[in-house]
Amino acid sequence: MDEFLQTLHHPSPQPKWLRWLRQLLPPLCWQCRQVLGGKTYQQPASPFLCSSCLLKLPWTDQHYHCRQCGNRTAEPGRIRCHECLEELWDLDESRSGFGYHEIIQHWILQLKFFEQEHLAPLLGRLLALSLQKSQWLEKYDTLIPIPLHASRLRKRGFNQSLLLAHQLSRNVEHYFPEIQSHWLKRIRATRPQTELTLAERLVNLEDAFSAHPDVQNNNILLLDDVMTTGSTLNAAAHCLKEAGADRVGALVLCRRIWEPGREHSAEY
Ligand SMILES: [Zn+2]
Ligand SMILES: [Zn+2]
Repeated sequence: MDEFLQTLHHPSPQPKWLRWLRQLLPPLCWQCRQVLGGKTYQQPASPFLCSSCLLKLPWTDQHYHCRQCGNRTAEPGRIRCHECLEELWDLDESRSGFGYHEIIQHWILQLKFFEQEHLAPLLGRLLALSLQKSQWLEKYDTLIPIPLHASRLRKRGFNQSLLLAHQLSRNVEHYFPEIQSHWLKRIRATRPQTELTLAERLVNLEDAFSAHPDVQNNNILLLDDVMTTGSTLNAAAHCLKEAGADRVGALVLCRRIWEPGREHSAEY
């Protein structure tokens, strides 16, 4: 992971005069730099992407989507993948907007590790687009962004899941659950899940979260930027359910996808 991060270009902040000049010029597609004008400007992801770049994004194919863990199913129309038929989860369901690769992966890494917070409105809008024309959010009363431990929050300066939650709420047209960012706390600093094997991950997350008593009898949607194996989200769901939450689901911007039956740790 670290090696990969070093290969990324770290853009310098834009000078004020350039930002001012940009406001005068017509908006450009963030990906291909084509001018977003006329009809294209009316596209739902405007003023960020042109329609052809929007179509090329790695959208989650809902026909091959395990409703439990969010991984790709072997056949279309299956509710659960083979692994989830055997495994018991605290998380009732999960859904992702995109696969964690290509440009979306790049944008998330830029947001999280290179302080490119201006990407949050784009990512929030894209996630909202993936929920368009669905009533999926309506079964949830409350949305809780996955919290960071205080030490990591100090280091990064912001919680990307909270940023994403606010940007998502601004872009969803109809019902949106109430955001309660203080209902879940990360009480133990854990090692990043991506550095650990599957067995280490489960131990790493034991008692990592603490839930507010108000979660009782609530239908809660957890929001995170990336889901890898789902162990972090599942540990959060476990904590919420122990505190009396009713239903707990997860919505993520991106899901890391692997071939069914493949060892999870082989991804890293
Ligand atoms: Zn484009
Ligand atoms: Zn599954």
